[in-house]
Amino acid sequence: MKRKYDVLIVGGGPGGALAARTAAEKGLSACLIEKRPAIGVPVRCAEGIGKETLKEFIAPDDRWISAEIDSARFVAPDGTSMTIEQEMAGSKVGYILDRKIFDRELVWQAAAAGADVFVKTRAVSPLMDDGSLKGATVAFCGEERKVGADVVIAADGIESKFARWCGLDTTVPMRELMSCAQYVLTDIDIDPHVTVFYFGNRIAPEGYLWVFPKGDRTANVGIGISGRKSKDGHRARHLLDRFITDSFPQGKKVELIVGGVSVCRPLPCTVADGLMVVGDAARLSDPMTGGGIANAMITGRLAAEVAADAISRGDVGRDALMPYDDGWRSSSVGKSLEKNYRIKEVFIKLDDAKLNALIQSASRLDLKDFSVLTLVKELIKRNPKMLLELKSLYSVLK
Ligand SMILES: Cc1cc2nc3c(=O)[nH]c(=O)nc-3n(C[C@H](O)[C@H](O)[C@H](O)COP(=O)(O)OP(=O)(O)OC[C@H]3O[C@@H](n4cnc5c(N)ncnc54)[C@H](O)[C@@H]3O)c2cc1C
Repeated sequence: MKRKYDVLIVGGGPGGALAARTAAEKGLSACLIEKRPAIGVPVRCAEGIGKETLKEFIAPDDRWISAEIDSARFVAPDGTSMTIEQEMAGSKVGYILDRKIFDRELVWQAAAAGADVFVKTRAVSPLMDDGSLKGATVAFCGEERKVGADVVIAADGIESKFARWCGLDTTVPMRELMSCAQYVLTDIDIDPHVTVFYFGNRIAPEGYLWVFPKGDRTANVGIGISGRKSKDGHRARHLLDRFITDSFPQGKKVELIVGGVSVCRPLPCTVADGLMVVGDAARLSDPMTGGGIANAMITGRLAAEVAADAISRGDVGRDALMPYDDGWRSSSVGKSLEKNYRIKEVFIKLDDAKLNALIQSASRLDLKDFSVLTLVKELIKRNPKMLLELKSLYSVLK
């Protein structure tokens, strides 16, 4: 490990990997540190990603694609379901990855581009000089070292501390932190090309439960519920166990993970002097779906591009790094995060009767010319009792 790099990247998830790869491709000296002993494990993810977004970053490869999805099914609390086929859902339907291999591949690409990579290496504090960020103190193989950097990219995920240490407020309100649990469940009867989403305040309060296939008889079966609904005896894992007992009693649980997903608005500002915050650390997972792999990669890449430009001009102050914050906020990422935040706020207030009514009427529609906007228009016609909620949805979408 060198004493000084152009860019130090904290975290070896998809955000950090793309930042490191891009920085190295731009000719910068880049160092990625990951606190865990191996990249990609444990997998705290249902591993779903849209096809089009993925292709922007890496050519699809069977080595890390567990399943190709052609439709998504939504199940109401009363069991009514509606299915959206690939041609209607567009890029939302895609692949289920094998992130143990995928994350590793992304970091290998960063290394191949010239970035230094260190595992079991944890950032323990920012390195400050005269009030400015100049790198990080890292714990590396049991000893602490100072690693200088012109820019630090904090890609340290949902549990991010680095941005907070540097003075940014990264608090996620309890109601906007989804508490998640997931099993890899095997020996179950599933459609290997369909993702299934279950809604309802009994099944997954203020959240949803998912079955994402990972092959013919195996799936990621998981649940996310609002932090404020998580209480003794009703934690995410309890609700998930109950669902599995009812729906897949023969299933064999071969892996369990628990984790959090933020469904709040992004950090108010994702840069400071010498610092950029990307992916989950910046609270950039989609507030509606909880998906964050794509946004982590998009913002990781953009952060490194802006860092390269700023370093070449010899100014890495907050204003010089601001094009990163402005860039993602004004792009489709920022727009869709805001839109989906507002949609989520409408959805979590629906009781089971309203969820049933919505999915029942949607299941009866001819969805040939599917768009969410036409769907909501039709639902308004069929559900006069939900005019208020649906009108607010319509105003967000139009
Ligand atoms: C149950 C669950 C299901 C999900 N399902 C999906 C899904 O289907 N699709 C989707 O798109 N997203 C999903 N997500 C979200 C997705 O996993 C994240 O959005 C994505 O991994 C974010 O990437 P990242 O690079 O920002 O952070 P991460 O992938 O979390 O990477 C951060 C890395 O930083 C490391 N780190 C932390 N602190 C330090 C430190 N001090 N020093 C060094 N290293 C550090 C961590 O060990 C970690 O490896 C899910 C999340 C959960 C919990």
